[in-house]
Amino acid sequence: MANDETEKVIRIAGSITVDELAQALGLSVTALIGELFKNGIVATINQRLDFETAEIMIQELGMKNVRLERKNTASKLSDEGRRELSKDAVSRPPVVAVMGHVDHGKTTLLDNLLQKKTVATEAGGITQHISAYQLTHDGRKITFLDTPGHEAFAAIRQHGAMLTDIVVIVVAADDGVKPQTVEAIKFAQGANAKIIVAINKIDREGADVERTKAGLAEHGLMPEEWGGDIMMIPVSAKTGEGLEKLLESILLVADVEELKADVEIPAEGLVIESHMETGKGSVVNLLVTGGELRVGEFVVAGSAYGKIRTMADFRGKPKGKAGPSTPVTVTGFKELPNFGDRFLEYKDEKSARKAALLNAQGVADDAASANVTSRDLLRMMNVEDNSKMFNVIVKGDVLGSVTSVVDSLKLIDTKGEVTLNVVATGVGDVTENDVYMAAGDENTVIYGFNVNVPTNIAKLAARDGVEVRNFRVIYELLDDARESMEKLLGEEVVETEVGKMEVMGVFRVTKTELIAGGKMTDGKLIPGVVAKIVRKKEALGEAEVESVQKEKIDAKELVEGEIGGLAMKTERKIELAVGDKLEFFTRETRQRKLGE
Ligand code: GDP
Repeated sequence: MANDETEKVIRIAGSITVDELAQALGLSVTALIGELFKNGIVATINQRLDFETAEIMIQELGMKNVRLERKNTASKLSDEGRRELSKDAVSRPPVVAVMGHVDHGKTTLLDNLLQKKTVATEAGGITQHISAYQLTHDGRKITFLDTPGHEAFAAIRQHGAMLTDIVVIVVAADDGVKPQTVEAIKFAQGANAKIIVAINKIDREGADVERTKAGLAEHGLMPEEWGGDIMMIPVSAKTGEGLEKLLESILLVADVEELKADVEIPAEGLVIESHMETGKGSVVNLLVTGGELRVGEFVVAGSAYGKIRTMADFRGKPKGKAGPSTPVTVTGFKELPNFGDRFLEYKDEKSARKAALLNAQGVADDAASANVTSRDLLRMMNVEDNSKMFNVIVKGDVLGSVTSVVDSLKLIDTKGEVTLNVVATGVGDVTENDVYMAAGDENTVIYGFNVNVPTNIAKLAARDGVEVRNFRVIYELLDDARESMEKLLGEEVVETEVGKMEVMGVFRVTKTELIAGGKMTDGKLIPGVVAKIVRKKEALGEAEVESVQKEKIDAKELVEGEIGGLAMKTERKIELAVGDKLEFFTRETRQRKLGE
């Protein structure tokens, strides 16, 4: 399990003073100022460092157990994460996230559970947006969060899906544990959620439930029937077999966990999706986590506020009030709140407007008051000079997808060699302005996700040499970004040693040629390889092997133990002597890969 006890989380909004950071890290201010100085920053005790700078400093200090988190602006309104419960708290439905490797059957499973066909309408069959559904089993409700797959896990975690009580990990019995299965396990553990495994596709030939369990056990999930504490339910999302048992297991875990929430408090919860719709204005999906939300109430989420005009359940059925763990779609927000923001009910319009304004100022203040930014720091640390920038502008159909794309992009690890820089983001089609922003820099790309690129904009982009890349599937977008960043890394020379020889005779030495004979002491020798000439551990030079001979006849290769001759081409005269060693290797240039 994760070493939660030892991990320290520091939450900051947009920036933090040197003094506050030192205190949070348990360092003296002088020590921190010293460390900043080492990195080329002359800082004073009251100086504000931006988020990225603080993060880099923590890395530089080698503090692996300290994690910096962005404080949600709306968190100023209410408690972070789960709130403390009063004695009047009542039980609430569990909030369940379904996760797993791509194609293992998450969507089919949710569809079958909800008897709702969404697979056909989804691009690439991959769930793109976080949404929520609720169903009833044995007269009890269960809320499902439908989460974007893959690397977006981390993005959701950052944005508060810590509200997930139970993670159902879907593993296909004919495919076993895969990288995203492991990611899902880590996510669940990091979010402190209970895990239930759905071993899916048991109707398939080649399904092996026991082997799948063994694979999971290798990753620390021990099935109950093997003496562990994880329920693993064999299911078929296709035929529906085992799904009743899965729902029962979810309710069983919910009972053990005694999930509760207060209802006698102002309504609060999380923004899980938001977009604009003609005729309706802002359409926002909320997950209520506490209190009861009613039509006509005033709510604030970050810098957005409004009066709930209409409220509907996930199927679009009007709803007058919604209690804890209920997902609803509301209209009435005057502007779009951010995906992941917490929302809170206010008693009247005046106080809601004021709170929203304060939140907006808080963000602006934080950003404006940071006088050291990560760019300065990178420049001073000389990172920028030898690193390359990959600039992106991200446009998405809804805020949730923009956030997911941006967060997933930031997860592409380049070991600091290529820096991904999000120049701008926005909801809606690619515009003229986006093209102007990107023009003039060949390393700036516009990524569209589920948006349109109007023909006139495409023409403008072509004229200005701006690349607009539009995707409907998040993995494809991420793969493209990774590839582009790899291209910026350039090529590298890879040398692979293939064999060694000890020189026993030297037959010809000129400026351009070396002919010698010897015994292979290791590996093999083939024409075309490079020979490094070594005398008493010192390299004398290099030569290219042109031909190889065995018993005076041209040979394809010489192997360990064999004696033979070779002709080499040199660029200068190298006085080869008996007793010298030749080390043979191949040399190739190849495109560098990220993370190597
Ligand atoms: P996701 O990427 O995890 O959401 O996977 P999908 O739900 O899109 O499923 C991927 C493929 O596996 C689809 O072709 C499904 O029809 C198929 N599939 C999902 N569950 C089952 C199952 O239980 N049995 C069989 N035979 N096929 C399944």
